[in-house]
Amino acid sequence: MAKILIVEDEQHMLSGLKDNLEFEGYEVDTANNGHTGLDKIMHSSYDLILLDVMLPKISGFDICKKVRKEGVITPIIFLTAKSEEIDKVIGLESGGDDYITKPFSLREMLARVKAVLRRTQDNDSQSEKTKYIQIGNLSVNFDTYNAFSNEKPEKLSSKEFDILHCLWRRKNGTVTRDALLDDVWGYDYQPTPRTIDNFILKLRQKVENDPNNPKYIITIHGIGYKLILD
Ligand code: CA
Repeated sequence: MAKILIVEDEQHMLSGLKDNLEFEGYEVDTANNGHTGLDKIMHSSYDLILLDVMLPKISGFDICKKVRKEGVITPIIFLTAKSEEIDKVIGLESGGDDYITKPFSLREMLARVKAVLRRTQDNDSQSEKTKYIQIGNLSVNFDTYNAFSNEKPEKLSSKEFDILHCLWRRKNGTVTRDALLDDVWGYDYQPTPRTIDNFILKLRQKVENDPNNPKYIITIHGIGYKLILD
């Protein structure tokens, strides 16, 4: 279940939120002032933060700006007593994901919490999925240089990754040998055409069902290569 931090200096508000979120099954941590809140955000991990704006000494907006600057991407919902449009703008500009204006109903608060959690958790699984690209028998992650073939890890050299990436970026279009050379080897060192052919042969063995009769990495004679993907 999601872990939520509430930063709120009004004790009745804090305990009310805590009880209700715990009743819904969330794991709840609390901070009753800005400095404790900031400290907890920086040193623990949460799925969501409910952050009061009007806190003594350091405002919720400033806490949000600070933690975003430090690279914290946990979603933040501001709790604000002010309903003016300007505050909403400042809130979202400081890196918040949503805001709830006090006084709010329990139903509204829970709906906002669920919506933000659903949105961020969907995004996570979505980006996790799109990181792996299926090319023939090979499932490749170009960010982490990982590859799998039939669920088993497959070893590719960094040059093989780079060549495949170059072809994939221009998939279904012809990539000339020169473009491949510039992209993968740069201008300093130029391998012979034979070297590129050898890399392509190795890639075909990992990608194709029948490397001698390629369906994915096609040679365009006298010009270069083409990666065919749906
Ligand atoms: Ca307050």
